[in-house]
Amino acid sequence: MTSATATRAALDPQLAIHDEIVAAGEPWLGSVAQGQTLRIVDLEGNQAVDTLFYNAHHTEERYSAVDTIRAQGNIYLTRGSVLRSNLGASMLTILEDTCGRHDTLGGACSAESNTVRYALEKRHMHSCRDNFLLALARHEQALSKRDLPSNINFFMNVPVTGDGGLEFADGISGPGRYVQLRAEMDVLVLISNCPQLNNPCNAYNPTPVQILIWAAG
Ligand SMILES: [Zn+2]
Repeated sequence: MTSATATRAALDPQLAIHDEIVAAGEPWLGSVAQGQTLRIVDLEGNQAVDTLFYNAHHTEERYSAVDTIRAQGNIYLTRGSVLRSNLGASMLTILEDTCGRHDTLGGACSAESNTVRYALEKRHMHSCRDNFLLALARHEQALSKRDLPSNINFFMNVPVTGDGGLEFADGISGPGRYVQLRAEMDVLVLISNCPQLNNPCNAYNPTPVQILIWAAG
């Protein structure tokens, strides 16, 4: 048995220490300890999962898109990508990726962006930024608006055009595709299972995702 086969065999969903469905449009906040494995499954396909990571013990250290992009020399995340903190530390490593590309640039939808991009009457639509703040409030985390840096959009396709622009394109993910990360430090994971209905990031139809966590080793 190769080590890769052994790794996959060890990650039987039946053996996960945490297995939860995050409903369409809902937030999720949880912890993953150093050495544990986190898998996010795009159950029905084309679902953007807006995600932030914080050092569980010092939350002022958090995922940094700039440090991650600079260290790997690429704007997209996939297998082998190391997610870096604002202090340059390795927070998590992507070990498996059956989607192939995840966005670092698009950011989270918000009341403000819905208004600017789409229409004034979109202001009150459910957004990722509101989801992040709701999860932080529910879990009594001493984090607020100032603690929301630019996030990862797992399963979201934001190609850069030839002249340097960004496009929110059709998703490249599909039902059952997943991204799997090993935590290199104890992390808090803040997710908004994106409720956006005004662009194709969720195929105009937000759907549930699954969160699985396996113990270290
Ligand atoms: Zn969103």
